[in-house]
Order: sequence, then structure tokens, then C-alpha cells
Amino acid sequence: MNYRRLGNTNIELSVLGFGAMRLPEIKIGEKMIADEEKSVELIRFAIDSGINLIDTAYFYHQHRSEYIVGAAIKNGYRDRAYISTKIPTGEIKQPDDFERFLDEQLSRLNIATIDIYHFHYLNQKLFEEKIKKLDLIKRAERAKAEGKIRHLAFSFHDKPEVLKTIIDSGWFESMLVQYNMIDRSNEAMIQYAAEKGMGVVIMGPVGGGRLGEPSEAIINMLPKRKLSTAGIALKFVFANPYITGALSGMNSIQMIQQNIKTASEKDSLTEAEIERINLLVQEYQAFANLYCTGCNYCMPCPQEVNIPLNFRLMNYYRVYQLPEYARKEYAMIGKVPWLPGKTAEYCIACGECEPKCPQNIPIISQLQEVMQTLGEK
Ligand code: SF4
Ligand code: SF4
Repeated sequence: MNYRRLGNTNIELSVLGFGAMRLPEIKIGEKMIADEEKSVELIRFAIDSGINLIDTAYFYHQHRSEYIVGAAIKNGYRDRAYISTKIPTGEIKQPDDFERFLDEQLSRLNIATIDIYHFHYLNQKLFEEKIKKLDLIKRAERAKAEGKIRHLAFSFHDKPEVLKTIIDSGWFESMLVQYNMIDRSNEAMIQYAAEKGMGVVIMGPVGGGRLGEPSEAIINMLPKRKLSTAGIALKFVFANPYITGALSGMNSIQMIQQNIKTASEKDSLTEAEIERINLLVQEYQAFANLYCTGCNYCMPCPQEVNIPLNFRLMNYYRVYQLPEYARKEYAMIGKVPWLPGKTAEYCIACGECEPKCPQNIPIISQLQEVMQTLGEK
């Protein structure tokens, strides 16, 4: 396993972190819930294999993830891993909710100190209305002085300009952001944060699963390496020197073993290989732009259809050949904060959007195609 220092802290993290958001599940009645026994086994296997970053959050697995991580790190495992979790920033209504959530999370995890404590899902609105207005940094600093938190961080879902503002606040020692070979929007800010001495941990290194399924388009980027889609995607992220590590939501021993193999390799991608990937991604992007550039000019839709998001997922299907991922994400539109708005099904063909599209995309008929391809059969 390769290890890297988390920014200016004295923590050496494994480049591969265990994300406890996609734990194995079992069916109880009509519901799928996290399987505690199997999950504990997986987390312990990960720690025994050299992974020392376990990341969870208040909401993961209908609130069960933190309890499960707490159970997994009993019996000597606590001192072998850094525990990272996230306060549900959007749920903080008044300043002392901060301590209420923190104490509850410490109790769920059954530990005295959280090593890396994130404000979950920061965007401009939450940064202004929660962090600044409710003066939450003062509370976080007090919790640090009391030993309840070791390092303060945030996870992020907004535009890069907002990310810069949050980095520039100087309040955080680390950040958790989206980045992968297809989604490079945070690349410049990753370098910026690292150069300021912040740790940078990546979520979605294999595209939140999007690159976890076989894709000829991606495997062909490095044909000589004979790697899986996920292997190429992880290797690409690890090749970025500004990154401390990457979280992967792993739900089987086999997946952990495969990812550990990639995270332990000493030979990084060569410059020529990175250049080849960049060129091909640019080509795919140009192809994707024929369908939609994501400019947003057609928005807002009176029916709240998220037109660019629907088209982006369609591009994952047709350009990057990731059908399983595209369908899964489509099914989640409107159900998770990072996929806002409505699916193509809600279009009533009012025609308001089409004249606003600089690409002259026949939005109504394209949305119908999205619905037929990605919607429930
Ligand atoms: S045509 Fe459909 S997508 Fe376009 S604005 Fe009307 S309802 Fe929204
Ligand atoms: S205006 Fe056209 S190109 Fe821009 S996001 Fe809407 S559909 Fe895509």
C-alpha cells in the first residue's frame, strides 16, 4: 500500500480509503439494509490489508453506517485506522446543533475523537447560511481544543469558484471533492488547495461506480496495461501528485483486493499515458458536446426537468459506454442532493427550452430518447 501525508497534518493516509457508503446489504421485509456482519468483516479486512482511512457520514445507509464502522473498529482496530465522518450541515438549524450532532456521532462510532470531521455537502448556500452565519467554525475549534475532533475538513458539491472561496477561508485542513478521469472540473482547485497545504481526498475516483463496470471506451485508453476500467480510473487519480488519497465504496473482498493491488503499485502512469488519456477524454467530450455541452442556457424548466443532467447521463450511456451507471444515476435524480431536479418523464413538451439552446438540440425529442433508454423498462 502506498501512503501520503494529509496536507500539513502529521497523518500518513493510505492512498486508498474505505468509503462506508456502499456496504453490502441484506433484504429485511421490503427494505434493503446494510448487512452489519459482512460489513464489519470487510472493514476489518481492509484495515488488515493496509487501508488506514475509513470514511462514513451521519446519513449513510439510513444512519446505520456510523454504527457499523463503530462496531468494526472495536477489538484493537481503532488505533490502526483514521476515522473520518461528516456532520449533516444542511440539518444544522441553530448553532448548538453542531455539538448535538458531534456528540451523537462520537457515540455512534463509540470513540472519543474523530480524526477528520467534515462539514458534509458544502455548497455556496450552506457555506454562507450555516458555516458563516451560525459561526460554526468557532464551535469546531472548541471541539478540537476539547479533543473531540482532530482535523477539520469539508466535502463539496458546487462550482469550482465556490470551492476557491471555501479554500481561501483558511479554516480547513483537508477537503473531499469529486474527481475522476471524466469529471475534471475540480482539477485546478485540487492543485490550489494542495499548494496551500491542505489535504485532498477524492470521492468518486471510479466515478461513484460509473467507471466500475467494464467500458471498452476506457479500457482502450491504456490497452497495454491490461487493467480493468476501475483499475485505469484509480491509477489515473493516484497519478495526480496533489491528491492525498481516494475513497472507494467497496462491497466485496475481491473489490478491496483489486483496488489494493492498484494502490500498492510503485509505477505511476507515465506522462505519455496521461497524455493519451487526456486526448481521448477530450475526443469523447467533443463527441458528448454534440449532444449537450451542459451550458445550462435552457434552464430553468417550468416542470423542473434538469435538462443538462438528463443529457449528461445519456452521454455516459452512449459516449462512455457505461449503461449500468447511467441507469442507476437516472433513477436517483431528485432523490439525492447532488442529482437535483426531475427526470425526462416530467417534460410536458411546452417548448420553452428549445429556442434557448445554442446547440439547437431538439430537447423534447432527445428527452424522450433519454426516458426510453434510461427510464424503467
Ligand atoms: S419542453 Fe419539457 S424540458 Fe423543455 S421547458 Fe418544457 S417541460 Fe421543460
Ligand atoms: S442549452 Fe442546450 S447545450 Fe446547453 S444545457 Fe441546455 S440542452 Fe444542453
